[in-house]
Amino acid sequence: MFVRLTGCNLRCTWCDTAYAFHGGTKMSVEDVLARVDALAGRADGLSGAQAKVPLVELTGGEPLLQEEIYPLAEKLIAAGYAVMIETSGERYAGRLPREVIKIMDVKCPDSGEADTFEMRNLEVLNAKDEVKFVLATRRDYEFAREFTVEHRLAERVKQVLFSPVFEDPAGKWPGLEPRKLVEWMLADGLPVRLGLQLHKFVWDPTTKGV
Ligand code: SF4
Repeated sequence: MFVRLTGCNLRCTWCDTAYAFHGGTKMSVEDVLARVDALAGRADGLSGAQAKVPLVELTGGEPLLQEEIYPLAEKLIAAGYAVMIETSGERYAGRLPREVIKIMDVKCPDSGEADTFEMRNLEVLNAKDEVKFVLATRRDYEFAREFTVEHRLAERVKQVLFSPVFEDPAGKWPGLEPRKLVEWMLADGLPVRLGLQLHKFVWDPTTKGV
């Protein structure tokens, strides 16, 4: 289940969740927990681990911009859910409960948000976490390759993901062909995995909520 928080302080050129920059519904932490329990099918007295949906992902926008993310994450874990967070890497993630699985971006040059990575986050990442690079160009790939090697990311985290930009259906930005990216990865023999936005291949790429 996704809990999508409104607002982001970055403006990646290929952002596909710009609808999350504004709007949304103001909810207290307790409101969010009650909604998660209802949607997850967690019965009274049962652990979140036994719910029909035992995994909650906190995302955005940028979820670390809201102070309430910390009590929300703590309470979800206390309720027994597995909790993940998707973050741009621009905010320090060291205040999250240690059980939270972090999926952390490092922004590449052609995102338009280069050099926004909070370097202290390298010390916060651990063996259950993932680092993700979203790649638009060969220049992005070379940046991601150097960053991965220089900071020995593959030794720090569960996996390093290289994910090609998916072409905007409305033509606002071009994509990077997955096959091209795979050829670069194989040629260099990098200890990284390909990450595709599977929902955009399974459903119409503009469909939300899948
Ligand atoms: S950090 Fe994420 S939500 Fe924010 S602009 Fe970039 S892609 Fe969009």
